[in-house]
Amino acid sequence: MKKSEQPAPRISVIGTGYLGATHAAAMAELGFEVIGVDTDPRKVEELREGRAPFFEPGLPELITKHVASGRLRFTTDIAEAAAFADVHFICVGTPQQSGSFAANLSYVEGAARSVASNMTHDGLIVGKSTVPVGTAARLRAIVAEVLPEGIQAELVWNPEFLREGKAVDDTLAPDRLVFGGTTDRSEALLRQVYATPIAAGTPVLVADLPTAELVKVSANAFLATKISFINAISEICDAAGADVSLLADALGHDVRIGRQFLNAGLGFGGGCLPKDIRALMHRSGELGAYAAVGLLQQVDEINMGRRQRVIDLALEACGGSVLNRRIGVLGAAFKPHTDDVRDSPALNVAAALHLRGAQVVVYDPQARSTAQRMFPTLGYADSMGEAVSGADVTVVLTEWQEFVDADPVTLGNLVHTRTMIDARNCLDAVAWSAAGWKVLSMGRVPEV
Ligand code: NAD
Repeated sequence: MKKSEQPAPRISVIGTGYLGATHAAAMAELGFEVIGVDTDPRKVEELREGRAPFFEPGLPELITKHVASGRLRFTTDIAEAAAFADVHFICVGTPQQSGSFAANLSYVEGAARSVASNMTHDGLIVGKSTVPVGTAARLRAIVAEVLPEGIQAELVWNPEFLREGKAVDDTLAPDRLVFGGTTDRSEALLRQVYATPIAAGTPVLVADLPTAELVKVSANAFLATKISFINAISEICDAAGADVSLLADALGHDVRIGRQFLNAGLGFGGGCLPKDIRALMHRSGELGAYAAVGLLQQVDEINMGRRQRVIDLALEACGGSVLNRRIGVLGAAFKPHTDDVRDSPALNVAAALHLRGAQVVVYDPQARSTAQRMFPTLGYADSMGEAVSGADVTVVLTEWQEFVDADPVTLGNLVHTRTMIDARNCLDAVAWSAAGWKVLSMGRVPEV
């Protein structure tokens, strides 16, 4: 392994999905020579052509720039990456196992095994994927078993906290860096890799392996808990005629609480929060940490209950049945500024209404093709106007700015009935009701 005063380490990024593609492009932007590896040849082909395989603001520009400069390249061949790089970042998926809340660790195990067994010189393997506590120690044993004779490699953990939609900025200027299980040598190498953000003030926390693994899932569990907390309070607001948005504003002024992640509505989704809290729930059970199990169960249940609440509002608005009623759905992505529809509450609600016989027409500014791949039987529109045209009920399920800015008068002239379910509490209910809409929100007094 090279020392920090030696030439810049060469970097491989294994797995080029939302995390890995961003990490690879950001590492190239920080000045390193980078190779990205993925088992999906279509993804690699797109990246080689300088295109991002998904929507992420600012990422296509970075990929194009650094593929063109030759500093960033992509391959499906792990042996090529193992031979090229000194630092190998593992960024593969850790999805929920089917039929269980546990994380599927076959991809991280496969990645660690394949990179280690193909190494031709000493190196550092850095886990970035989100994993249950205890995983890294197991991977260390796998790496030790498969390393070619005479080759040495440390395995450390450096969990990733980026947010989709802000992934590039979060990677180039993270809030904090956590290095887990490092020796002096590997810590120095990681400090060299992250020299730019560290010089700009990003704090570094050096931890043992289990703490580093747990920081990430605890952060996600806390954020999920905050969202489910306000959603539980919004249920009380509904019953008591209070306004959860105003309440959250008032709570948020308390610096100990803060306003972020206190938006009541349809709840959280995506490729991380739901599966991460479930994996933590599962792992906590294995470890006998039952307080965490109970807490996370409630967080998950409250969250899933929000989807049912929106379905119930639609049923109510249609007089008890949505059969053959036309529902204009605004939003499919799990949140704005992404095309990610993994465990998307929006798409989940749209599909549930479709299953109940509604004619659902979905519009999303970025997630149409990802949504269509997942639920091809739903109707899809190219514009907001087309989606709501002739609608008996309109539902905002993702708070894209385009929907927030929509003109209630223009849309009012397109729909059959001016009934709006604002599942994200993102519309100006007073303006919409002034334009003749009945507005149903989540934990806010209805505007009729
Ligand atoms: P993803 O599904 O978008 O990407 C994973 C990629 O890994 C896929 O392209 C897949 O083909 C590839 N892959 C699987 N096995 C491989 C192997 N052996 N070699 C090479 N490539 C392989 O997933 P993602 O959203 O990028 O998440 C990756 C990890 O990062 C997960 O553990 C996730 O929890 C974590 N994470 C994600 C985010 C996020 O916002 N997406 C943020 C922080 C952490």
